[in-house]
Amino acid sequence: MKLLVTGGAGYVGSVCAAVLVEQGHDVTIIDNFSTGNRDAVPGEARIIEGDVADKAAEILGEGGFEGVIHFAARSLVGESVDKPDEYWQHNVVTTLKLLNAMRESGVKNLVFSSTAATYGEPDQVPITEDMPTQPTNPYGATKLAIDYMITSFAHAYGLGATSLRYFNVAGAYGNIGENREVETHLIPIVLQVALGHRDKIFMFGDDWDTEDGTPVRDYIHVRDLADAHVLALKSNESGNHRIYNLGSGDGYSVKQVIDMCRKVTGHDIPAEVAPRRAGDPATLIASSEKIKRELGWNPTRTDLETIVSDAWNFTRQLGDKAHSAKRS
Ligand code: UDP
Repeated sequence: MKLLVTGGAGYVGSVCAAVLVEQGHDVTIIDNFSTGNRDAVPGEARIIEGDVADKAAEILGEGGFEGVIHFAARSLVGESVDKPDEYWQHNVVTTLKLLNAMRESGVKNLVFSSTAATYGEPDQVPITEDMPTQPTNPYGATKLAIDYMITSFAHAYGLGATSLRYFNVAGAYGNIGENREVETHLIPIVLQVALGHRDKIFMFGDDWDTEDGTPVRDYIHVRDLADAHVLALKSNESGNHRIYNLGSGDGYSVKQVIDMCRKVTGHDIPAEVAPRRAGDPATLIASSEKIKRELGWNPTRTDLETIVSDAWNFTRQLGDKAHSAKRS
């Protein structure tokens, strides 16, 4: 298929683009490289540098595109609280432009990268797709607003779409992994401690209502996540908007994640309790039964040790690269 991947230089977008290229698809990536990495983009893909809002109509206007996978977005919870205007602009307004460009060029197949943040603080876990959506921050609210937009475009204009609500994406695929200028996520930060790039990991609270007092999350391997996008793309039907949760179905506490990182890396990884982080819920665990049942999604890298090991192999490669860059 001839596909447009927006945000294809980001962490999830680049893994997905790599898998699509491997499977023989003709991939065009648009990315403004505000947070993406040039190194992560597969060599076989065509790359267009710029903003989706400015360029989507022109690119899709070339003709021949059979689908769009839309990753490009702002995605930091804390930042969205401080700068909501940027989130409404870059997430909602940009997606409206993209959907209009798709409509004008007759492209009716969309996969949208969404988030568990659309649910907010759930009353119960595991979270199924029919539970109330009450986002607790602007990031989740913008992603939810886009879902309403997509549903209405499906009904009115025949768009065929799937929104994938990711839980905690982690792991790496070959030489693509989490490599952000400013890192806020647990696993890459813990691994930076193991690599010696940080002194210790701060655990944000140990008095949560969980078994060991630290928050529990559902970690999903980025390569399993990529499979879900391909399945969605191949099964979208004009006029229908589907929403699926994506997780591994198991919860791990912050302490359990740190222990697993100790096991995988053989490093002590000093940890210290720090105050809670604003906006963090105690427990988030996905039910992914719907996508398994309906699309036959079959994640194979669900155990935490595989996820952490793949992330660690990638982090070490990054560390080696940084080391040789310093020496040369
Ligand atoms: N966390 C932590 N220390 C850190 C980063 C994260 O204790 O330096 C905790 C955070 O409070 C949350 C969990 O790890 O409970 C996962 O956080 P992350 O930012 O990776 O993902 P989120 O669940 O916020 O999307």
